[in-house]
Amino acid sequence: MDEQKIAYRPTEKLYFQDAYLKEFTALVVGREVRDGYPVVILDRTAFYPESGGQPHDLGWLNEVRVIRVEEEDEVILHFLERNLLEDEVRGRIDWSRRFNHMQQHTGQHILSQAFYEVVKGETLSFHLGQEESTVEIGLPVIKDKTLAEVEELANRIVFSDLEVKTYFLPEEKITTIPLRKPPKKTGLIRVVEVDGFDYSACGGTHCRRTGEVGLIKILKQEKIRGNVRFSFVCGFRALKEFENRRRWLQETARLFSAEESEVFSCAEKTLAELKNLKKKQKKLEEKLSFFEARELIEKSPSKIISGIFPEKSPEEVKYLALNLIHQAEVLAALAAFRKNYFHLVIAASEKIKVDVREVIALLQTEIKLKGGGSPTLVELVSEEKDKVEKAINLAVDFLKNKSGLN
Ligand SMILES: [Zn+2]
Repeated sequence: MDEQKIAYRPTEKLYFQDAYLKEFTALVVGREVRDGYPVVILDRTAFYPESGGQPHDLGWLNEVRVIRVEEEDEVILHFLERNLLEDEVRGRIDWSRRFNHMQQHTGQHILSQAFYEVVKGETLSFHLGQEESTVEIGLPVIKDKTLAEVEELANRIVFSDLEVKTYFLPEEKITTIPLRKPPKKTGLIRVVEVDGFDYSACGGTHCRRTGEVGLIKILKQEKIRGNVRFSFVCGFRALKEFENRRRWLQETARLFSAEESEVFSCAEKTLAELKNLKKKQKKLEEKLSFFEARELIEKSPSKIISGIFPEKSPEEVKYLALNLIHQAEVLAALAAFRKNYFHLVIAASEKIKVDVREVIALLQTEIKLKGGGSPTLVELVSEEKDKVEKAINLAVDFLKNKSGLN
């Protein structure tokens, strides 16, 4: 693809003057092809490009969908779904997506300052995701009680419905305001001020008043690079999250036939019961294995007992093999399956002077398998499920020869 660089004038950023502008008219001043997509450059735009942790807008230019928006040297590139023929366009941005981003982004300013005020935690990075947003706070740990204070302060700022102002300041005047973080840009700095509470250098789109942000809720935290990263949601996302969680809780409560407030204790009780039952089941299985082994020994015409047990787990088969070799002077070659593998246990009573490990090398000449063990028991695993019978036959023949048993 021929990608020649054309110098364009900086695009007039309408979203800087009015973050609430949903429609606008503009002139096409450039057309390119990038990554196989038609790209247009306009003289002015309300489309916000991917920048500063905030995702780009979506929308339409006339009837053509805008699928991506990027900024390159002050020029905004609109990536289109298909070619746009007209030179005069009416742009419409996907407002519900944009407003959602504005809620999360403004919420982040408030939350970051709340972290700073309550615990002097600095925001090292911000990411606005599809479902949740994150801030990485430069502290190794933040206690739950402190976190609750941070959340409360952030929401108090929301409920105070403060004005969110944006203005430009020349670089040399920037020290006259208490910026939360030094600016990354030079020259004219765009300041976003949550009335007297937070001052940030930011080029994003924000709500006019903190009340529009809606509820700010921290959802979870994780350690990263020695810091703590918090996931949070604001506004409509918080509402959706509340609804999701309410539904999950209600459905779980229904499963237990309990009140929602009782779900946790019900789950705890059920898990304890399950643990007990598993213990009991294991004991019963062990007993059963003992009798199964006895029956196999009684019925087997040979001292070499072999078979495939599709209904048993590899662990149960191993236990059965151990029971066999403890109850009588026998050799055992027993197989079971798990997922795409067969598991083969080969075992010998101690009195039979056979080292069952020798069988491994022999089987490996015919079948791809791995495993190992002791002189009296080896466990082998293979992906070649269709060769399980062959493996057993080879092992049985080998053991017959070695032990002289029939
Ligand atoms: Zn911002």
